[in-house]
Amino acid sequence: MSQAGTSLPGLLFLTPTKINPATRERWGTLVHLLGRACGKSPDIVKFNHFEKLKFTMTTKKATAIFPKKDASAKRAVSERVRARLVEAGHRFNANDNIAGFIHPGELDELRAEVEARMQEVLNALVIDTTGDHNTTETARRVAKMYVDEVFRGRYVDAPEVTSFPNVSKLNELMIVGPITVRSACSHHLCPIMGKVWFGVLPNANSDLIGLSKYARLCDWVMSRPQIQEEAVVMLADELERRIHPDGLAIVMEASHFCMHWRGVKDDKSLMTSSVMRGAFLRNPNLRLEFLSLIK
Ligand SMILES: [Zn+2]
Repeated sequence: MSQAGTSLPGLLFLTPTKINPATRERWGTLVHLLGRACGKSPDIVKFNHFEKLKFTMTTKKATAIFPKKDASAKRAVSERVRARLVEAGHRFNANDNIAGFIHPGELDELRAEVEARMQEVLNALVIDTTGDHNTTETARRVAKMYVDEVFRGRYVDAPEVTSFPNVSKLNELMIVGPITVRSACSHHLCPIMGKVWFGVLPNANSDLIGLSKYARLCDWVMSRPQIQEEAVVMLADELERRIHPDGLAIVMEASHFCMHWRGVKDDKSLMTSSVMRGAFLRNPNLRLEFLSLIK
């Protein structure tokens, strides 16, 4: 490791050799103090009537006094979070939750970064956000809407879901729904509005969760840019992990605004997808019973 000094700009003095003794003494004191601060005396080169004093500082000392800025602190927050995700090998698709990789306070930074970049989008769309009073605050509003509302399920931890033991050993079909679904498609970020039904067949060892928890978990999974087919599978995984039922069924019916507002501009079409697991997969009668009861 090189102990070579780091030259410090501004610490190069040219002092006249012929100065009065009082001034010379003051210079001497200053030179001594600077030498101490640098960890070594200056290199003195005399020429003509001047002394050239060159102060150098060892790299170690210079780093202590002028700490190098932490390279990661300068990076945009999205880059820092992404680097953590990549390092951990954690997927960060649009419908993945990345709350575990966001440090305290970084959500505020993230919102500010989205706002700045959204402003760039508005600029690129040639919208006069300075003169047009309707769009002055649009970048801020959209950033807040994405981070805190419609895509919130990516950035916050799962809601607390307390489960209870199945004391009464319930083993009959239980249906919850319809629960309103609000999401957005990953392809166009257009709204998806719909309904979802859950069918649960518990066994004696299953855990039970409160009815409102179905809605909270659903909201957490759906408040992300989603693909309906993947959304229902994610929802099934989350519920299965908490309830451990004999069977689990989910049916989601939704209206995709990317089909109404743009593209084919078809107002009426709905998409229905379902997930059947365990007893619902094995037992056609149970499946039929569930499907007939939700309509
Ligand atoms: Zn779409």
